Amino acid sequence: MEQPLLLSGKEVSKQVYKNLQEKIIDLKNRNIIPGLAVVLVGENPASKIYVRSKTKIFNKLELKAKTFHLDVETSEVELVNLISKLNNDVSYHGILVQLPLPKHINSSTIINSIDPEKDVDGFHPENAGLLSIGKPRFIPCTPKGIMRILEYYNISLNGKHVVVLGRSNIVGRPISILTSLKSKFSNATTTICHSGTKDIEKYTKNADVIIAALGIPEFLKKNMVKNRSVIIDVGINRIDADNQKGYNIVGDTKFDDLKESVSAITPVPGGVGPMTIAMLVENTIEASEIL
Ligand code: NAD
Repeated sequence: MEQPLLLSGKEVSKQVYKNLQEKIIDLKNRNIIPGLAVVLVGENPASKIYVRSKTKIFNKLELKAKTFHLDVETSEVELVNLISKLNNDVSYHGILVQLPLPKHINSSTIINSIDPEKDVDGFHPENAGLLSIGKPRFIPCTPKGIMRILEYYNISLNGKHVVVLGRSNIVGRPISILTSLKSKFSNATTTICHSGTKDIEKYTKNADVIIAALGIPEFLKKNMVKNRSVIIDVGINRIDADNQKGYNIVGDTKFDDLKESVSAITPVPGGVGPMTIAMLVENTIEASEIL
């Protein structure tokens, strides 16, 4: 049995940080320290872990990152007021609001209140629109990271059939646009499957590349894919386990099952996750270069 190529986002992210070093030094020489404001509302345990791992990398690279941790009862108006202050604060080039927000806050209202030139997550409608017409400003970090993994391993999508599972504005929708753009590593024929798709296997079995972003633990299995396909697993799911932490992290694909038949696959953890953070750093550095 031929082992699949392991697409290590961890390895690719190291390369990204190495390449960014020169830029960081150049900016420092011009007295610019790229700065990120992270806004966290409430005590969601997963969100707290994500925020901590994001700010940790910024600190390691000697970039500025500050978390504004607000009480779960914070009102929408209070949150918009904070974002308005951060929009006007020149020491923050990027603003990230950690999702999900508590139910009483409308995420769209909050995302729309971020200055599009500081929207390093790329979720503001202006940035989503620019991406959809093929002229991106900030590309959402996870889809951007996926494309970077494919480029690093020289896996061109040109002429391939890509099936995306999930249509969220954070992953599914933007990666479906990116994969189908007319550019060197893209130019794929992309199908988006979602919760309304009937007979999903009809699509996955015909895919050269599958990008799984549904948030369903180990959804994609060997009997649903064709031989030698490429699998990108975006999922990060906690499942109960009898260990010290009380849980394990698994992706949206059944890795042990699939690795027998696919040609390349991202592991979870160590696949797409590290690239999301690397692209956040890259986007913040790009934001600091906007005049
Ligand atoms: P989401 O819940 O916003 O969207 C899930 C999508 O899956 C929806 O569009 C829905 O239509 C689709 N879906 C649900 N059930 C389906 C089914 N049975 N068949 C086909 N489609 C179905 O989730 P999201 O924010 O896009 O995240 C998806 C996964 O990726 C989650 O596990 C999340 O934790 C993970 N994630 C990982 C990273 C990373 O850095 N690796 C970043 C963002 C999200």
